[in-house]
Amino acid sequence: MEIILAKDAGFCFGVKRAINLALNAANQIQNIYTLGPIIHNPQVVKKLADYGIKETENIDHIESGTIIFRSHGVSPKIYQKADEKGLKIIDATCPNVAKVQKIALQLQKKGYTLVVIGEKEHPEVKSILDTVNENAYCISSIKEISKISPEIDKLGIVAQTTQTLDNFRKIISKLVSCFKELCIFNTICNATLSRQKFSLQLAKKVDTMVVIGGYNSANTRRLTNICKKVNKNTHQVEEASELKINWIKDANIVGITAGASTPSWIIEEIIDNLKSMKK
Ligand code: SF4
Repeated sequence: MEIILAKDAGFCFGVKRAINLALNAANQIQNIYTLGPIIHNPQVVKKLADYGIKETENIDHIESGTIIFRSHGVSPKIYQKADEKGLKIIDATCPNVAKVQKIALQLQKKGYTLVVIGEKEHPEVKSILDTVNENAYCISSIKEISKISPEIDKLGIVAQTTQTLDNFRKIISKLVSCFKELCIFNTICNATLSRQKFSLQLAKKVDTMVVIGGYNSANTRRLTNICKKVNKNTHQVEEASELKINWIKDANIVGITAGASTPSWIIEEIIDNLKSMKK
């Protein structure tokens, strides 16, 4: 059985940077917190906890020490609060996310009503919405366009960095027919676009596709859905123990891809397990 790993599978630049910043800090100082899990992968979060990096959902729970802002970014209010509390800040916001926040603010200043195409509850989207004081719409499907007031003249549009190009395109083409003036920024990041493109290409030519990543990772879920559209034998796993022999027993070629928050050691473990299952 041949196993092919998709190009650009696993950690993206922003996630690598965040983890490196966290590990460097853990080597030098103590009393470090991340606001929410540093990435959406429970196995990595557990490893970082072993290095003494604690996770909290609420900045009010931190009395002193260092706070790491994860790659998804945080709202200006959180920066302010960290300052007021005298916390040392390590800002691991991905530069791509920081750029979306900046564009959102500029669009608002130019009089556009902001529309974020993404998942309202995702921390990255929340950070973008908070940057513009929540004076924005957030939509994730064509159906939700009806939430936008038809009275609005000027719409400024950005995307969550991990959206699919397909969904972004569909929503934009509908918005074009409903509103007069649109200022559109395709802010889906290049790492996302290439991972989705290579995973789709691979899923089309293999018998079974395995997508690796945390169940709480939105970009991994999207990757699974993209692959499922062209290959119904697509399965998402978080760990090697979830692999099933049924998935590969008749397969000649198995494709592997992984979300942006999946470390290489989990990918390697899964490839090794697949090889030994078919011996
Ligand atoms: S997916 Fe893109 S925007 Fe998000 S952390 Fe990775 S590189 Fe940055």
